[in-house]
Amino acid sequence: MNILISACLLGENCKYDGGNNLNEPLLNLLKWHSLYPVCPEMMGGLSVPRVPSERKGDRVLNKEGEDVTAQYIKGADLALKTAKENNCYIAILKARSPSCGKGVIYDGSFNRTTVFRDGVTAELLFKNGIEVYTEEEIDKIEERLSMRETTLCHIERDKEVLMLYRNRKKNDYNEGKWIGVGGKLEKGETPEECLKREVLEETDLKLLNFRKCGVVVFKQNDYSEIMHVYKSNEFFGKLKADSDEGELRWVEKENLQTLPMWEGDKIFIDIMESTDRFFKVELIYDGDNLIDHKVEISEEN
Ligand code: SF4
Repeated sequence: MNILISACLLGENCKYDGGNNLNEPLLNLLKWHSLYPVCPEMMGGLSVPRVPSERKGDRVLNKEGEDVTAQYIKGADLALKTAKENNCYIAILKARSPSCGKGVIYDGSFNRTTVFRDGVTAELLFKNGIEVYTEEEIDKIEERLSMRETTLCHIERDKEVLMLYRNRKKNDYNEGKWIGVGGKLEKGETPEECLKREVLEETDLKLLNFRKCGVVVFKQNDYSEIMHVYKSNEFFGKLKADSDEGELRWVEKENLQTLPMWEGDKIFIDIMESTDRFFKVELIYDGDNLIDHKVEISEEN
């Protein structure tokens, strides 16, 4: 897997004080993956060493009061470009940094007080569909890297969505449920490649354009899966009369929630239909029963 990573975690001396945050257990965990190091602060034009900075409101200020927002934004844009050019859809970033921190960063007072907020780069990456973790989430990262990966697409036509009623396959886990079109990633495939292949195989439609809406993590007893969720309204081809897996049907969007489907699907479909912001939804099942869920939604653009 291609993973974007904060360069200081790899031992690069790019911290404000000229040091690094080398994290050997993390590197050991990632040794079979392709790593793409970025230091957004240096990429934005700041030097090493440099005066430390923190996010305050809409700006990033250094400890001497100088406004370095432009450098932080430029560095975030370049980190995103690196991720896109190299098909990285996971980023592992340094916790609490005003650039790289995820969820918790220092509050701009320079007295080690934290607030619930992302750093500039972490925020931009998540808005653009990249899952962000920090080096402090090593158990979560390990779990994430071992998950089965799948894709799902809501293909839209006017006010309708193409849905599949699963009623054909033997021993189908989804039997009797309505779901979108998609399937499992094959070895070496990116989620986008998988999406295009699965849609073509299941529907005979070729996607011309699509947008990643979010990711959904399913946990059920010992099983875990991550599903990359997309929408598309640009495609061509004649819809297959029949799918091997079930009945394909255009369904009015307003009727989606009335179809028999997994309880958790209703949660992420509701988010997909109400916002264009990127989301991460975690669904925890006990057998067929949804027992817990968590939702993260990116900041407004
Ligand atoms: S900007 Fe990110 S990669 Fe660069 S030193 Fe700070 S935390 Fe590390």
